[in-house]
Formats: sequence, structure tokens, C-alpha cells
Amino acid sequence: MIVRFPVVLDNGRVINGNEKPFEFGDGQRHNGTDADGNRVTNIVGFDGEYLLKWCPHCEEVKISLDFGPEGRPDSDQLHRRDQSWCLVCRRP
Ligand SMILES: [Zn+2]
Repeated sequence: MIVRFPVVLDNGRVINGNEKPFEFGDGQRHNGTDADGNRVTNIVGFDGEYLLKWCPHCEEVKISLDFGPEGRPDSDQLHRRDQSWCLVCRRP
């Protein structure tokens, strides 16, 4: 899903999209909400341009776009949420 900054994590931390690259480390993953109100899950850091997400299927860390550009409808039908598996893992 295309993520629009700032992203507010559930723990209150804000990722503005202009930080230097970082990872939370220690296997930490966080969920949050982007500027469009869309849900982003399994965030492990930021590469200077894109959020870094962990795929629970291949267990690799990839940029958010590698999970697909569109996401899927969230349960509220108003917003979207990201796909949890990366594009490679979802390939039929
Ligand atoms: Zn994967």
C-alpha cells in the first residue's frame, strides 16, 4: 500500500518520513495509521524513503511497496489496510 506520512504508531511514536533510516531492532514490530487513516502493520523501521515491513510468511523485511500498492479495504469500509504478506508470497 502507498503509505502517506506522517504515520502514527500505536505506541504514540510518529514517523514523519524525513528521518534518517532506522529499524526498531530487537525484533520489534509495530502497527500504526497513516495520514489517510489507513492501517499499516508489522512495521520494523524506515529506510529513508519507505516504511520497512516484516512479512510473516517469508519472514523477510521489505519496503512497504513490496506488499503491493493498493492494500485492501479495512473492516470499517472507509479506509484501507495493508496486505500482511509481501507480493512474492501472495503470487499464485
Ligand atoms: Zn513474503
